[in-house]
Amino acid sequence: MDLVVFQKGFNYAQDGRGNRLIYHIRGCNLHCPWCSNPEGMDFSETGRISAEELVEEAVRSKPLFFDGGGVTFTGGECTCRFDALKEALARLRERNIGTAIETNGTSPRLPEIFPLVDELIMDCKHYDSAIHREVTGLGNEQILANLAAAAKQHPDLLIRIPLIGGFNAGEDDGVHFAELFRAIGAQSARIELLLYHEYGKEKWRQLGKEYTVRDAFVSEETRKQLEKRLLDSGFQVVRT
Ligand code: SF4
Repeated sequence: MDLVVFQKGFNYAQDGRGNRLIYHIRGCNLHCPWCSNPEGMDFSETGRISAEELVEEAVRSKPLFFDGGGVTFTGGECTCRFDALKEALARLRERNIGTAIETNGTSPRLPEIFPLVDELIMDCKHYDSAIHREVTGLGNEQILANLAAAAKQHPDLLIRIPLIGGFNAGEDDGVHFAELFRAIGAQSARIELLLYHEYGKEKWRQLGKEYTVRDAFVSEETRKQLEKRLLDSGFQVVRT
């Protein structure tokens, strides 16, 4: 089965532990207006590679996976090519290579691959489904169900909230996120708040697409306040 890769490269501890080979899988079922990889949102077939071939490539990089590193699949949305992703994860497992995925959490099949993923990184963009739908194109019901399943079943879950001013970074939002994490039993997960950035803005322009996000920067002080709210509510807050 084939994956479609639009970008790959190494990074250290940004998308999973240690030194990792990161595969960006083409295609995403959401359309977040702040997406920093808009060139990978489409479902074209440029960059096709079989799961087997990809894993052989990763095996050749094995000496570089130091400090607990391995392979991370991100996107786009890596679960949109679910069967090929599952095959690649299983093959990496067979070759004793550490696995991580970074996912928007929308796949109804996500729990199927929990046993194949060492570190599970899941986005949580908004607690309110109507707002989530309005901004990203899809409601959050499946995401919340998957977060709850992951919190219960996965031993190494990192939940990431991209803080976007005017969308999810107000004081009330902090209260609602804490309520949500309590409801899904996320006490053993790590939670990370990421500041909005505009790394993708120029790419949107180059693609001839309008970048519609305005005034969305969030101050470090606001992030600290929101982190404190989560810490005070008994959650583990991290910065990776
Ligand atoms: S889920 Fe991620 S990859 Fe997909 S549009 Fe949103 S930010 Fe971009």
